Amino acid sequence: MGPNRGMRAHDYAARRERMVQQQIVARGIRDERVIEAMRRVPRHLFVPEDRRHLAYEDRPLPIGEGQTISQPYIVAYMTAALQLKGDEKVLEIGTGSGYQTAILSLLARWVYSIERYASLAERARRRLAELGYRNVSIRVGDGSAGWPEEAPFDAILMTAAPPTIPLPLRQQLADGGRLVGPVGNRYDQMLIRLTRKGKQWVQEQLVPVIFVPMVGRHAWAEDQDDEWPGVSSFQE
Ligand code: SAM
Repeated sequence: MGPNRGMRAHDYAARRERMVQQQIVARGIRDERVIEAMRRVPRHLFVPEDRRHLAYEDRPLPIGEGQTISQPYIVAYMTAALQLKGDEKVLEIGTGSGYQTAILSLLARWVYSIERYASLAERARRRLAELGYRNVSIRVGDGSAGWPEEAPFDAILMTAAPPTIPLPLRQQLADGGRLVGPVGNRYDQMLIRLTRKGKQWVQEQLVPVIFVPMVGRHAWAEDQDDEWPGVSSFQE
């Protein structure tokens, strides 16, 4: 038996509530809908079983394939920055564990999410279906090219960092739509929000962050992938 022995659903619920109060509300997230979504989604079911006891800690966690589930505060911050009201069509680049996808699905009309690793996409798809998140479509592929058949999107969330915002993503943003995500290299990344106003795109710099790279045709090249920290460099 691993470290999860004896942990029950209500223990996780108590940890989740503490996470919401101490990491989300106390740090200034004000969007009530985002706070409620963070309260509802069982984050521990989106992390590998042997790490469930760490699911509500203030940190990212490895999920396989050298990838991570982001820190809860960052998930809440990025989601709030999208300013969702409930009727949006959202595109997410980097499904990962599916946790952020679940949060978005509670806050928007439909979520389209793209993941480059089939193993992660398949696990996320299964988990989201089991938990009853129905307004979600997941595709395996290169998200730096977007999802042209479903464009335009009212909101786009990138959960991996390209060197610059991929042109197809700019083009697939609806008028008035917001794109939020990290941009930069391993050492220097900034979370940005891009708002489309007709033929113009207004860019705001939000906060410095650290994310895994977006690897794709309109992002980092495959052979640059190993310049980035992988699971082995995680401090446990
Ligand atoms: N939002 C995820 C969660 O809640 O677990 C965390 C995502 S993780 C920080 C970033 C993900 O982006 C990884 O799973 C990675 O494989 C994926 N990724 C990187 N480049 C991509 C690309 N071009 N297209 C689709 N997914 C990509």
